[in-house]
Amino acid sequence: MTTRLYENAVFLEHNTPAGHPERADRLRSLNIALEHPNFSALERVEAQIANEDTVTLAHPEEHLFAVMREIPEEDGEINQIEADTYASPQSLKAALTAIGGAIAAVDAVMAGEIANAFVAGRPPGHHAEKSKAMGFCLFNTVAIAARHAQQKFGAERVAIVDWDVHHGNGTQDIFWDDPSVLFCSTHQMPLYPGTGARDETGVKNNVVNAPLSPNVGSDHFREAFKSRVLPALHDFSPDLILISAGFDAHHRDPLAQINLVGEDFDWATGRLMEVADRFAHNRVVSLLEGGYDLEGLAESAGLHILRLMKG
Ligand SMILES: [Zn+2]
Repeated sequence: MTTRLYENAVFLEHNTPAGHPERADRLRSLNIALEHPNFSALERVEAQIANEDTVTLAHPEEHLFAVMREIPEEDGEINQIEADTYASPQSLKAALTAIGGAIAAVDAVMAGEIANAFVAGRPPGHHAEKSKAMGFCLFNTVAIAARHAQQKFGAERVAIVDWDVHHGNGTQDIFWDDPSVLFCSTHQMPLYPGTGARDETGVKNNVVNAPLSPNVGSDHFREAFKSRVLPALHDFSPDLILISAGFDAHHRDPLAQINLVGEDFDWATGRLMEVADRFAHNRVVSLLEGGYDLEGLAESAGLHILRLMKG
């Protein structure tokens, strides 16, 4: 079975100010890595823009309208939405296309059309709370994908695993009191956004946070995965696994101090695929979140995708 990658040139047109780490070059760097013959079997398709209504699967309508009001009209204009979150004229289209890719990936995986999928989109999504764009994120793409799987396919238990080095506060916020979604996160603490302590468990114990201290590396990450994330997934027995795949825990990344190597992402992907094989008919959909060193991102995301392709 195939691994499918969703991409679209509009993802390069979401512009942030010069020097901002979340930039189009991230995807260009990944694209260069994907030219390697190792990826010749990867099926690459163009993500289609989602209807604006899909945003309301995870956000109130007011949040959609609030983001729409922040989108500048003039070419070259960049509008600061909050501290480090920006919008350019194509940002709404890019964010909706990332959602479109995620939803199409869920459709294809749930239908058994493909083995698994990676959505190489931007802006990222996991910091976007129900009613707040933040941390480079406008809409919470992974949360929308989870709700879509539930509404369209009747998925009863969706697991979201977030290994981005920053805590996925937005995803936690959206599913805080929803036991139909298990949210598991490994992340550096202390670090932006400040949430993600172990005692943040959600109203229904459906949130599992595994914070890591700065300057730890592969061993601590793998131990957190083995002792916290994997047991929670086994107890939950998900119908579908979504990955908030950020690659900023790579040792080269400038925004954090966790020292993972590319092979750690291969390893973690493999462990999640084992869970998916056991409980979820192999269904895995992975979405790009952070990762700000171009070389670290290309290496890590490349190894992650290669592992997905090994089925
Ligand atoms: Zn991050």
